[in-house]
Amino acid sequence: MARMKLLMIICDGMADRPSEELEGRTPLDAADTPVMDRLAREGQCGMMNPIGTGIVPGSDTAHLSLLGYDPYRYYCGRGTLEAAGLGIDMEKGDVAFRCNFATSDKDLRVLDRRAGRISGGTVELAKALDGRMIEDVRVIFKEAVEHRSVMVLKGTGLSSEVSETDPHKEGEIVWTAKALKPEAEKTARILNEFTRMSFDILDKHPVNLDRKEKGLLPGNIILSRGPGDVPDIPSFSVKHGMEAGAIVGITLVKGLCRILGMEVIEVDGATGGADTNLAGKMDAAINALIEKDFVLLHIKGTDVFGHDGDVAGKKEYIQKVDASLGPLVEKLGDDVLLALTADHSTPTSVKDHASDTVPLLVHGRGMRFDNVQKFSETEAAGGMLGTINGQELMPLMKGLAGWVDKFGA
Ligand code: ZN
Ligand code: ZN
Repeated sequence: MARMKLLMIICDGMADRPSEELEGRTPLDAADTPVMDRLAREGQCGMMNPIGTGIVPGSDTAHLSLLGYDPYRYYCGRGTLEAAGLGIDMEKGDVAFRCNFATSDKDLRVLDRRAGRISGGTVELAKALDGRMIEDVRVIFKEAVEHRSVMVLKGTGLSSEVSETDPHKEGEIVWTAKALKPEAEKTARILNEFTRMSFDILDKHPVNLDRKEKGLLPGNIILSRGPGDVPDIPSFSVKHGMEAGAIVGITLVKGLCRILGMEVIEVDGATGGADTNLAGKMDAAINALIEKDFVLLHIKGTDVFGHDGDVAGKKEYIQKVDASLGPLVEKLGDDVLLALTADHSTPTSVKDHASDTVPLLVHGRGMRFDNVQKFSETEAAGGMLGTINGQELMPLMKGLAGWVDKFGA
């Protein structure tokens, strides 16, 4: 049998709970989704526990699971994923942190953890710290959105087993990093020296002098949290025997894909929000499937409406996603094994991720089909796949697409 290529479409946090506003239906159920419904009719549906029963997934741990990896074994912390997502080359032995530009006084008392939500000038501030040496350790420092940034320490004898310097509260002195294990003594020392140094450099930086003059809070100290290292993790191509590409809306999942050796494909106008260039992402997926065996297409907007508790907005956005899927499905026909699901539920009533299962559909050439007529949480639960675990999704897709050898004679 000729193998099919694989396309995994993840609508972040799309799954939901019944809403009064929709007369007891979920946004996905209430949405007019002719394309998804056709795929459901012609394919197989079921439910999926992204990580396990009763587990509330993060987007990073859920994606690890859906890509076939045990998140309890391989999860390496957000610092690493954010740094890799911003394009910093992460190597074994490096330690990464998520950082904030914050405001402190000369005694390192934190006055504002976000430096008045500083936006302009952070490129210059990051440059002033990037490339500095402390002992034999090189500091790689890069700005992210608003007050956020990432730092990677590169050198010998480093460990991620250090405590944070971010006191998570205004009015407190910046915390002193401590080694949580003996092998992290050096890292704690470097981190503390860096924190002090960041104040000395940033407090008199022209960007901050200008801010002070305008009555704005200076971004004059760096607070660090979420230390992470590079895990011993088999690449996607080693694990699955496939060359993979990823079109992804958020830095966190981009970083994960880079750590797994997948090619992250950037799309013009892709914002990681509800205003993203959906059509561009669909085109990029079609193009990527020419070269790649597997493509991950991640759409963030659905999760944003879930966190905002915006029921009508979520429903409308799902309809937009459905419309943008039309040309893609038209182009691919049934030559590609397509899976459509969510990485977790983000119920609008909860405004955060929940442990609920998510609906799943798979569609491709020559497959059996079930009686599901519409793609929704309730209908998919009646499909032939039953309830699977997130880590079973890759084996399920590979088996259906002809990538798995016979077990036995
Ligand atoms: Zn997510
Ligand atoms: Zn979320």
